[in-house]
Amino acid sequence: MTAVTAPERAGAPADGAAVPHYLNFIAGEWRAASSGATFENRNPADLSDLIGLFPDSGDEDVSAAVAGLAEAQAAWAAASPEIRADLLYRAAEIISGRTKEIAAELTREEGKTLAEATNETSRIAANFRFYAGEALRLKGETYPMPGGQMALSLRQPVGTVAVITPWNFPLSMAARKIAPALAAGNAVVFKPSEMSPLMGQRLVEVLLDAGLPPGLIALVHGKGPTVGKAITAADGIDALTFTGSFAVGAQIQAALGTDTRCQLEMGGKNATVVLADADLAKAAGIIKRGAFGLSGQACTGTSRVLVARPLHDALLAELVAAAEAVVTGPGDKAGVTMGPLATAAQLEKVARYLDIAREEGAEIVTGGIPDQGALPEGYWIRPTVIAGVKPGSLLLKDEIFAPVVALCPFDTLDEALEIADDTEYGLALSVVSDHLPSVLKIAEATQHGIVKVNAPTTGVALNAPFGGFKHSSNQSAKEQGGANVMDFYSRIKTVYLGA
Ligand code: NAD
Repeated sequence: MTAVTAPERAGAPADGAAVPHYLNFIAGEWRAASSGATFENRNPADLSDLIGLFPDSGDEDVSAAVAGLAEAQAAWAAASPEIRADLLYRAAEIISGRTKEIAAELTREEGKTLAEATNETSRIAANFRFYAGEALRLKGETYPMPGGQMALSLRQPVGTVAVITPWNFPLSMAARKIAPALAAGNAVVFKPSEMSPLMGQRLVEVLLDAGLPPGLIALVHGKGPTVGKAITAADGIDALTFTGSFAVGAQIQAALGTDTRCQLEMGGKNATVVLADADLAKAAGIIKRGAFGLSGQACTGTSRVLVARPLHDALLAELVAAAEAVVTGPGDKAGVTMGPLATAAQLEKVARYLDIAREEGAEIVTGGIPDQGALPEGYWIRPTVIAGVKPGSLLLKDEIFAPVVALCPFDTLDEALEIADDTEYGLALSVVSDHLPSVLKIAEATQHGIVKVNAPTTGVALNAPFGGFKHSSNQSAKEQGGANVMDFYSRIKTVYLGA
């Protein structure tokens, strides 16, 4: 096996400048985009900090990447499950040993705090270990037939899996797709978000260092409308797993033919419902974590609070106090509890929804987009609480994907359910209450794929199924959680044994 050395990975600018030029990994080697074009990657907490230049790839690079995978995939599919499991265990060990450096780079690239970045990095080691176990648990079944005959199901890899991921969890979204894909015996072509390409790079380096056959993974950097689109049009992709926005997911679904299986996990408009018996401090703590953690940039982030009317004013006061206690700044600075937004587009989106709040006559009680002040130039936002939001408002329906929470009072449980489900999305809903019949009623009736009781909408277990309803998912297969995941990454052949 060819060792892939560090300088080849990062490349080196010919003029010896300090900015690293990163490369694609195609057909077992590190390469620039065939056009030679690059794009910049900058720190959202300090736009003067240029992290690196990445290949701005195109159709040709995607074709080469996919073509380069077939041979290694056949050998990997034939390899013993133990070999696949060992590889993933080794990858987990390597990640664990690099947690500090990768987490620091994650903060620099995406903006989340060091504590949040450390959490995410540790999580991918756990993911790799989990799917190492799944590699060993893959199985088929036998079906009794008359007269000594038998039918059996053979579970086989699907072939080449395309992985397209967003920037908000650039490690964990990718790991929870790549690890089961490899565990099941597939090859992977991976396109990380152009907003977080360095984390894609680090993940592939970890796998190669763990001993992954180089021809089994391709990393193609670039923009969604070029590389992403080229992947959806490429011959030789057997399955595509995507996490990102509904708008892009819908384009992908439309572009893929019937021969490519497709998993889409998309946006959310997650609500916490606070029932009349709720403890206010507990509810505020739950909402604070769900709404302001990760700068509100989690697909399961709390974006709406539906509160029993008698509790409204007191909960609003608690939330405002919680928001104002948040310390915003660069995520690597001691004492900072919330980093910036990750992209310029995110900041523009928040500004649009704050305008909508003003136009609708809602009250931005605290937060908004602050003056830069002493902070470096970056995508800064303060945790924002909006009150006086009426049912039907876009603030209660659209994904904002920021630390912005809209409050709306309700009078009955049915009304709370109606407002909660009055959105195109259906990802996560949490309920704060100890009244079991009400909690169960909501859990059973709501059109959200994840329901959490006395817990924030964010934070999910890697061994439990994950996925939304409606525009949050195409519901072809759940992510995480074991056997259901492996169904997406493998296919069943039925074999009949005659007498
Ligand atoms: P996005 O949809 O803009 O981009 C996601 C990925 O798709 C990127 O790699 C992008 O380059 C690529 N892409 C863009 N256009 C493409 C095209 N035409 N064809 C193929 N690929 C294309 O999403 P984002 O802004 O990176 O991430 C934020 C979104 O992701 C939010 O909506 C969030 O809710 C969602 N998200 C969902 C989950 C989940 O598990 N449900 C988890 C994290 C994030």
